[in-house]
Amino acid sequence: MKKILLLNPPGNRPYIRDYYCSHIAKGIYYWPGYDLLVLSGILGKEHQIEVLDAIISGMSREDCFRRIKDMDVDVIIFITGSVSWREDFSFLEKVKKEKKALIIASGDFLLFQGSKIMKQFPFLDAVILDFTTRNILDFLDEEGGKNPDNLIIRNGEDIIEGNRSKTKEFEIPIPRHELFPLNKYTLPHLKKHPFASVLTAFGCPYQCLFCPFQQIPFKTRKVENILEEFDYIRSLGIKEIWFRDQTFLANKEHSLKLCKEMIEKNFFFSWSCETRVDLLNKDSLSLMKDAGCHTVMLGVESARQEILDRYKKGIKIDQIKVAFALCKKLKIKTLAHFIIGLPGEDEESQRELIDLAMQIDCDYASFNIASPQIGTTFRDQAISEGWISEKTDIMDSSCSYPLIETKGLSKEKVWMFHQLAVRKFYLRPGFLWKRICRLKSIKEGIILIREGVYFLREIFLPKTGKDD
Ligand code: SF4
Repeated sequence: MKKILLLNPPGNRPYIRDYYCSHIAKGIYYWPGYDLLVLSGILGKEHQIEVLDAIISGMSREDCFRRIKDMDVDVIIFITGSVSWREDFSFLEKVKKEKKALIIASGDFLLFQGSKIMKQFPFLDAVILDFTTRNILDFLDEEGGKNPDNLIIRNGEDIIEGNRSKTKEFEIPIPRHELFPLNKYTLPHLKKHPFASVLTAFGCPYQCLFCPFQQIPFKTRKVENILEEFDYIRSLGIKEIWFRDQTFLANKEHSLKLCKEMIEKNFFFSWSCETRVDLLNKDSLSLMKDAGCHTVMLGVESARQEILDRYKKGIKIDQIKVAFALCKKLKIKTLAHFIIGLPGEDEESQRELIDLAMQIDCDYASFNIASPQIGTTFRDQAISEGWISEKTDIMDSSCSYPLIETKGLSKEKVWMFHQLAVRKFYLRPGFLWKRICRLKSIKEGIILIREGVYFLREIFLPKTGKDD
């Protein structure tokens, strides 16, 4: 049995690095790193696990280093991402000099550049390419591993990249939710605290060209296995679930079967999920609501059909309007994701995007900045057009200054529209009143005040060309 530390490393900003996405946390919202959560179940049956989330615990690099230095640990598995990887690596390199532990990473850019990165950084012993598989157990058992499927491993001078899983269905040992500081995590739309993160399917079958999931094959989790996790979550007294699927309903039959089971087995969880406007209809949404769904998060991205088509989003503007209206009718709250500054957009289309956010009247809006993430066709385009260099490998789409400018929009304009969108959406008197009326406790009031302070700071503090 090995002593394994699952680590969310410290950072200069509140980085969120999980499930092949990384960005700076918006507002005061934060959730457990999903890779680590799943690994806690897979590894926890055979090994002794400790979890350290240095970001949510507010630990400085020095404090976190001292804490790890005092630990008796054989293996450190950490999450990283293109938002912070150089910072993460310098920390883990220092840890490796102090401890003899194996150092293993999971993160977005490593899916696409893991072997190259391992050659450059000898402190790294392995990279996990699919955190839902058990291959990491074999690797730890054999100290080097004969079968590095779903991993990249170091074997002496060699870097060996294993094959990636091609299964259509999977199951995982139940994640050890209780090892994470669940009371510290929060999201704006939750009905109850604490909440549990649960995966019902991995990857995404769609091909949106700005999203790294265009390259991550889709597989569904066995319904019985999900129900087993529900039983466990319920035994911990947790009543709220956030489904971490990239696209709930991507396999409609599977998702609706799960909803029926939730109703029949009286789980009574309240829950939310990410899905797509073209997958929603009255029947599926009604069933989801009966099963406890209170909020859906939907990618709108742009107000221009030609942009949605260019980036292969596969949805129509009309479908956006119909889906949001349907949610409103069924009293399901909505969060809409938008991208500001995609190539092809111009000042007029960005004003249309802000108007669309008001028109669909979503309950929450997430305005992100076009960011050519590693592993996307958008990045290939950005390099070939000279918008970024191949060396551009640190990026954030949530609240950092734009990286690219195109014929239609300068970086200054992209930033200006981002700030304008946030301001126009969140500072509407009607919106603020709605949020205040919805408050059910003093705790929610405190969260709203903290959220407000954050937004005012983000909106009114000027940025000056660099992410500062
Ligand atoms: S549907 Fe969502 S997760 Fe899937 S590729 Fe498109 S943007 Fe990415």
